Amino acid sequence: MIEAFKEKFEKRHQVARQIKKDGKKIVGCFYGSVPRELVHSAGMVPVQLVEDGNYQYEAKSGLLPYLCGMSKNLTGQIDDKVFDYVDAVMVSTVCDTNRHVPDIWERNKVFPKIWIVRAPIKADDEAVSYYTREVRRLSEELGKLSGKKVTEEDLRESIALYNENRALLRKFYEARPVSGVSAEEAVYVFASALVLPVEEHNALMKKLLANLPPAPVRDQRTRLMLCALNINMSLEVIRLAEKYGARVVTDDFTHNARYGSEEIEINGDVFTSLARGYLRKIPLPGMYAFEQRAKYIRDLMEKSRAEGLIYLIQLYCDAYAMEYSVLKEYFDRWNLPHLKIEAEDTPLSIEQLNVRVQSFMESLM
Ligand code: SF4
Repeated sequence: MIEAFKEKFEKRHQVARQIKKDGKKIVGCFYGSVPRELVHSAGMVPVQLVEDGNYQYEAKSGLLPYLCGMSKNLTGQIDDKVFDYVDAVMVSTVCDTNRHVPDIWERNKVFPKIWIVRAPIKADDEAVSYYTREVRRLSEELGKLSGKKVTEEDLRESIALYNENRALLRKFYEARPVSGVSAEEAVYVFASALVLPVEEHNALMKKLLANLPPAPVRDQRTRLMLCALNINMSLEVIRLAEKYGARVVTDDFTHNARYGSEEIEINGDVFTSLARGYLRKIPLPGMYAFEQRAKYIRDLMEKSRAEGLIYLIQLYCDAYAMEYSVLKEYFDRWNLPHLKIEAEDTPLSIEQLNVRVQSFMESLM
């Protein structure tokens, strides 16, 4: 059953093309803080623009070498027409790179339409009121593209579906450390949520939760947690850590922390509820309280009995590197054993992590 998540993720472009063939439009999301419920309630399917394991896309992008691998990899894929099924892209700003690289996409007219969503970094009344107006504006734009006006009722239904997905993912993350789900399989469970229609992912999740494989008996491996952003690099680091005697029992992708945690509460106006549900709720660097994120990681480690943490950052990603420097103060204060690694998504760069991961594992044994 669990292989279905991997298969769907790996065939994500075929899945999306089939959706399009069946008559639905597709909105590419860049990235975790795009309000997908809004896209869904306009009758379209939100699909995350996900980095590809083929590192040659970075060189193909023609972007400056010191930009992060994520933006180069996506731009390389776009230039290669990998996302030819996308009808529009919604960019929710996280950092300077993800704000400005879409300007290049716009200039090169690679997508029919690009919306930039600027979420405030605060969640006070003024910020909520601003973001509600933004959410309403976007709903109108989305409605024009799909030909289906977003109604309050539609939006309520979409929020309910995504809330169900969050609840299912949370259940999965609670059960995962005491189940036989491997770390690689768990990455696909989460990653497929980014690229599949929510209804399909919910159905898969329900089947999985009803049939979780049992935990391995007398497992002596060192239990680890992984914090990361890049899906391919995470898989590589998991394999490396396992080579040196680890079992990665939990992880925290910033998209996942949101999708696996709080549901959006509908209280009064549904557009305002959606706006409130996104502001300072997604653990993006600089847009989320550092202490809260550090505590979230510590609590997740405690719950899953992880003995150490690997914090993986993509090279030239200043946003996560700066966030780490603040989180590190908390980790040090709590004597939380951790290893920060910074690498590019290339075989050579990953290979160079061997010694560091090995010595970290030895320090935990
Ligand atoms: S958050 Fe980091 S990896 Fe993502 S676009 Fe910004 S710089 Fe790149």
